[in-house]
Amino acid sequence: MSQPARYDAVVVGGGPAGSAAGSKLAAAGLKVAILEKEKFPRFSIGESLLPHGNSLLKELGVWERVESSGFMRKYGAEFCTADKSRLRRFWFAQNLGPALEYTYQVERAKFDELLLDNARESGCQVMEETKVIGVENPDTATMEVLCEGPSGPFKIETGWIVDASGRSAFAGQFLRIPRKRPQKNRRIAIYGHFENVLRNGGKAEGHITIARIKGGWFWLIPLANNKTSVGLVIPSSELRDHGKKDLEEIFAQALQAAPEVADRMRHSNRLGQLKATGDYSWKFPTFAKRRIILTGDAAGFIDPIFSSGVMIALKSGIRAAALISHAKKEGRGLSHWDRFIYTFQVSRWMHQYAQIIKVFYDRAGFEVFMNPSPFLQIPLSIARLVGGETKLNSFDKLRLLAFQWICRLQKIIPIAPSIPSLR
Ligand SMILES: Cc1cc2nc3c(=O)[nH]c(=O)nc-3n(C[C@H](O)[C@H](O)[C@H](O)COP(=O)(O)OP(=O)(O)OC[C@H]3O[C@@H](n4cnc5c(N)ncnc54)[C@H](O)[C@@H]3O)c2cc1C
Repeated sequence: MSQPARYDAVVVGGGPAGSAAGSKLAAAGLKVAILEKEKFPRFSIGESLLPHGNSLLKELGVWERVESSGFMRKYGAEFCTADKSRLRRFWFAQNLGPALEYTYQVERAKFDELLLDNARESGCQVMEETKVIGVENPDTATMEVLCEGPSGPFKIETGWIVDASGRSAFAGQFLRIPRKRPQKNRRIAIYGHFENVLRNGGKAEGHITIARIKGGWFWLIPLANNKTSVGLVIPSSELRDHGKKDLEEIFAQALQAAPEVADRMRHSNRLGQLKATGDYSWKFPTFAKRRIILTGDAAGFIDPIFSSGVMIALKSGIRAAALISHAKKEGRGLSHWDRFIYTFQVSRWMHQYAQIIKVFYDRAGFEVFMNPSPFLQIPLSIARLVGGETKLNSFDKLRLLAFQWICRLQKIIPIAPSIPSLR
């Protein structure tokens, strides 16, 4: 092997977290390489954005391009029971104000490519079809990143690694950091793209629909060009218990018990195979070492029910880049304080969602969620969270606490009407 090229920072993975971190690092004057194992555009799941993520796209300089890319506008979200007995529709404008009136439902192949192109234009050297397979001298100023590219193996020398490798969590695995699982029950998502799925009319056309079934839920995300992303989330144990292997059979069976979704899909046809992703919700206890920093899903993954993944990926990528450029200017690695604050902030964003996700999966909690008390203005606080607000004020925090207590109480004294199909 010839003498390794030297970059100030190497970013592992060119998804939203990697592109965001790379763009910011390059803009701060660092020589950056983004190593991406796939050739873009490539399929990825996670198509529903949150309005509070818009400002991050603006900060990265891609908002205009997102606006003119023909993605489906998303003005809100709706939650329902798949038996059609309950429906709650949220509008971002009503709850978050006119500045956050809408965001987008995006086909990730196109969206991620747009972000990666932006990183390239910011000055990053993007190497696609290049997989990172190891690191020599990890967490030092002279790390050697071992790569496998189209013309064979090679090495890159660097002083900083941003791990943005998504759920494959390259650095966490490599450094053998033990994972924490905040959610006891493992789940599996089965999903695909469909054509001709029935949509809401008017501005609600782009609403994401979350339809709750016993033990799980369906999502319907309307995309551009009459395409809809439909997914089913169920406990992994259901696959084991019934000895079922075939994704199509499981999906079809769940649809039979979900008239709300089945009716919308009556005249649809599937585009390509169904895919499955299993065993999610975990995080590492620490997201930063002296010279290696974990971003987006590579730091931890929370259940996607509230569509928070891309926003947290962008936010953590931007934050990680700021910490690195600051430390580099001072000629040092990340301090204990940097590492603590970064882990604390990113964990807090995840934790806020984790709390409300718990409520969503709990039957009694969901009954209250579908009938939250208006006098406490709980719906407003939930809508802020659903819109992607990660800095809830004290009133919102108190309301959410009250909401959690009401959910607990619901198990003893029924406060909200029960939903028999979930029992
Ligand atoms: C079923 C499901 C539904 C979801 N729905 C939503 C949603 O509606 N809205 C939302 O916001 N989020 C959703 N998410 C979450 C969202 O997909 C992720 O949070 C988001 O993609 C994270 O971005 P990232 O950049 O951290 O990782 P990724 O987008 O996964 O990007 C990681 C990149 O790293 C590359 N890579 C991996 N390993 C290596 C390596 N060793 N070397 C080089 N490259 C490597 C991969 O090829 C990939 O391109 C969902 C997730 C799941 C599983």
